[in-house]
Amino acid sequence: MLYQRSSQLFAEAEKVIPGGVNSPVRAFKSVGGTPIFVKEAKGAYLYDEDGNRLVDYINSWGPMILGHAYEPVVNAVIERAKKGTSFGTPTALETEIAELAVSMVPNIDKIRFVNSGTEACMSAVRLARGYTKREKIIKFAGCYHGHSDSFLIQAGSGAVTFGSPNSPGVTQGTAKDTLLATYNDLQNVKDLFEANKNEIAAIIIEPVAGNMGCIPPAEGFLQALREVCDANGALLIFDEVMTGFRLAKGGAQELFGVKADIVTFGKVIGGGLPVGAFAGRNEIMNYLAPVGPVYQAGTLSGNPLAMAAGLEMLKALNSDEAIFSRLEEKTAYLEKGIREKLTAANLVYTINRKGSMISVHFDANPVTDFKTAVNGDNETFKKFFHGLLKEGVYIAPSAYETWFITDALTYEDLDFTINAIEKVAKDL
Ligand code: PMP
Repeated sequence: MLYQRSSQLFAEAEKVIPGGVNSPVRAFKSVGGTPIFVKEAKGAYLYDEDGNRLVDYINSWGPMILGHAYEPVVNAVIERAKKGTSFGTPTALETEIAELAVSMVPNIDKIRFVNSGTEACMSAVRLARGYTKREKIIKFAGCYHGHSDSFLIQAGSGAVTFGSPNSPGVTQGTAKDTLLATYNDLQNVKDLFEANKNEIAAIIIEPVAGNMGCIPPAEGFLQALREVCDANGALLIFDEVMTGFRLAKGGAQELFGVKADIVTFGKVIGGGLPVGAFAGRNEIMNYLAPVGPVYQAGTLSGNPLAMAAGLEMLKALNSDEAIFSRLEEKTAYLEKGIREKLTAANLVYTINRKGSMISVHFDANPVTDFKTAVNGDNETFKKFFHGLLKEGVYIAPSAYETWFITDALTYEDLDFTINAIEKVAKDL
């Protein structure tokens, strides 16, 4: 496949956009080469500016769980757009999607909509600090919660790809309030609570990590965090930007049977439009302005186009009883196929998966935290990535990202992908 026009477009973009992209991982820095410029997408496929068709395993980094240009979402956006794109006043649509979200997710009474996952996590932490009247938070190395200052401390994927886990521009004052823990290491978390008595407002965690590849929580880990938080008067924040409305209707809370105090959403909840949200019980959510003292706002928050897209997406997921088991089956099929082909080629690898989130690591050891995630052989990954691209299969351009499986993928697409992996694996 040729990528001539994409290369040209990238050269033009680089002149007027830093690095030619509006979000760093898109730039192919860790795998080399130039990014693919996409012209349009439908179902499981991307169509690029050179006329190539690619089977897509990124799916806009998660949102397109039912495939690209999913018709009910597209139609809802078109119809809403004709009636005006933003009013800065409440709409009935906002209540409708809020009611549906609250009915689908366990343990939440109220939800507030914002414009990105970053905003959702940033606001959740401010709320937790305001509610507990404490300043410190615990985050796990390799977890990403968006690019707001307090989170850019060993923040996984993008930041790791670029070798700057702690970004310049984050002040010492901010950094000192973010305590770092090791994913899946309970003792480490307990030690931090011991050393910072009555100072920790919240633990924030990706209940299944997706930003250092996919790393599921060890058996009982999330429940243990719940207990540690309760014992210390801290809140538990589940960042479900990736897992929400993907692993189950009610996300990781439902899947693992663990209650969080605040849950954040992004990606799927917006159906591909810029939406984030955070939610919790009344006593916590009523701490927000205008009823409570913690300020949080947004000119375009609850935007009608975004809410119309999100509503159609949630309706589709809510009404399809089999959707999450179908995604599980498809991803398990893919996993089995990848294992067979990589094993047949005598490659050293580890595959992690939870539901429709999956990642391939070129390392023999279990990948359970940030340290073990970065051990993988990046040179092999680069060849794997470019080999698959040549075969028409588009996976994330970094070894530290998760693949997101969409229901639009057919078993034919999965077989096409597994065959491509067989071809590529022989040359690794
Ligand atoms: N939290 C998690 C778990 C994420 O994966 C991401 C984005 N990949 C974010 C937060 C930030 O979301 P956004 O990019 O929409 O700001």
